[in-house]
Amino acid sequence: MEDKKVKISIAHLYPKLLNLYGDYGNIIVLKKRCQWRGIEVEFDEINIGDKITDHDLYFIGGGQDKQQEDVAKELLTHKSELITQRDDGAVFLGICGGYQLFGHYYQPHDKDKLQGVSLIDAYTVAGKNRFIGNVTVETDFLLPNTLVGFENHSGLTFLEGDTKPLGTTVIGNGNNGQDGSEGARYKNVFGTYLHGSLLPKNPHFADYLITLALEKRYRQKVELPPLDDTFEYLAHKSVVEKAY
Ligand code: GLN
Repeated sequence: MEDKKVKISIAHLYPKLLNLYGDYGNIIVLKKRCQWRGIEVEFDEINIGDKITDHDLYFIGGGQDKQQEDVAKELLTHKSELITQRDDGAVFLGICGGYQLFGHYYQPHDKDKLQGVSLIDAYTVAGKNRFIGNVTVETDFLLPNTLVGFENHSGLTFLEGDTKPLGTTVIGNGNNGQDGSEGARYKNVFGTYLHGSLLPKNPHFADYLITLALEKRYRQKVELPPLDDTFEYLAHKSVVEKAY
C-alpha cells in the first residue's frame, strides 16, 4: 500500500438492540488495534431505519429473542445488499444472536421462525437447555490455534454445504453440543457463540479479521505490524489452561 493514510471502514449493526454480554468490546478492540497501527477507522453505527452502506467490516452482537425479532425483520430488508457485500469480500463478524441471523432462519421455542439473511449455509433451532460457560475452541487457521470465550445460548446451530466451523470445541458446547463444532465461516463471514467479549482475549483473531478487511479494501496482501499482546495472551492462556 502506498504511504498515504491507510483506512478501514467498520459498521456496527443494531448496537441498540443486539449488544448483550459486552459484545461492544469487540468494536473497541477492532478500533484500537487499527489506531495503534496508525490505521484510520471510519466507524458507523447502523440502527433500525438506517441504510446499510458499504463497509470493509460489519459487526453484529448477541441479544435476547425479542431483540432478535426486531433486528431480523430489519436485516431482511437489506438481504441482497449484504449478500453483495459478502461476495465482494467484506468481513462479517456475528456473535450468538447476530450469528444466528446470518443463517437461513432461527426457530425460537414458541414463536414464529425468524428469517435470516443466508450469508452462511446454516440454521438454528431453540434447544431445551441453555448452554452457559467457558469455551475453548481448536481452529486450523489461527496461531495460536485456540479461541476462547463464554457461551450463553439455547439456540442449536447446524452448518450445511460449504459453511465450515471456526473449529472444534475442547471445552464447552459450541454450535449445538452434539457435533463438536463451534462457530461458522463462509468466505469472509464469521459467526460464533463466543461472548466475553471475544476479541480482547483473542488478539490473533482480531488481527486476522482486520487483515482480511484491509485486503478487501486495497485488493492486495496485507501484513500487519505486530503489537505487544503480552497481557492479551496471558488472559487467553488463563482460559485455555482450564480446558486441557
Ligand atoms: N436468543 C438466542 C439464544 O438464546 C441468542 C442469545 C445470545 O445472543 N446470547 O440462543
